[in-house]
Amino acid sequence: VLKAEGISKEFNRLKVIDDFDFTIESNEIVTLVGKSGTGKTTLMRLLNGLEKADKGTISIDGHYLCRATPDGKTEYVSKQERKKYSNQIGMVFQDYQLFPNLTVVENCIEAPVSQKLLTKSEAYQKAEELLSQMGLSAKRDVYPRTLSGGQQQRAAIARAMMLNPKILCFDEPTSALDAETSNEVGKMIQKIAASGTGILIVTHDTEFAKVFGTRVVSSDIFSGHNEKE
Ligand code: ATP
Repeated sequence: VLKAEGISKEFNRLKVIDDFDFTIESNEIVTLVGKSGTGKTTLMRLLNGLEKADKGTISIDGHYLCRATPDGKTEYVSKQERKKYSNQIGMVFQDYQLFPNLTVVENCIEAPVSQKLLTKSEAYQKAEELLSQMGLSAKRDVYPRTLSGGQQQRAAIARAMMLNPKILCFDEPTSALDAETSNEVGKMIQKIAASGTGILIVTHDTEFAKVFGTRVVSSDIFSGHNEKE
């Protein structure tokens, strides 16, 4: 379970997120929708640790990213603790961000092997299982540039799942895909959620958000109101 309590973020005195409470349970697919510039990407970046909050507490199953301090600010945990937190949360970027100089399977094994979380042979075995689930076994040894958009996305999902994240985040997963491929991705995401991974999706695709979200959250409430209100 991801828990954010009382988080705030401002840029040059613009309050993008103000005292916001937010949770993602395992099995849940939370879709974030709302007008441009209302802080959807910012919220996702805060939860990922790519951006630092000004206030509040963020944790996943007892692994803290930051903790509220008595003076109303927040304190980020040590680099080592942060790594433990970030291993609980995976990210699939809009442009996928696969390593272009590594093959599909090498993309998958890179993080767990370099962090010494898995041996090379364990990592290969896990990567092969995940690539098979994603229907990408035949593409194991090719470079990302030779894959279609949908295939690159599935490779990025397999790579993100290598560390068994509790939460998986998607930034605009359907923006580059046709309707049929979007639907396939939605179904893939449902399967991942059913296996116990909480999902967070930032999207402009309100239809996709409604069909596949088990909960739709609008970014209109990020500043001034809490989710529970
Ligand atoms: P979109 O739907 O267009 O992607 P969004 O809801 O994801 O928008 P954000 O990208 O989170 O919105 O931006 C929220 C607000 O914060 C915007 O006004 C933006 O200009 C501002 N902002 C975001 N990042 C920064 C930054 N690094 N420096 C200054 N301002 C920023």
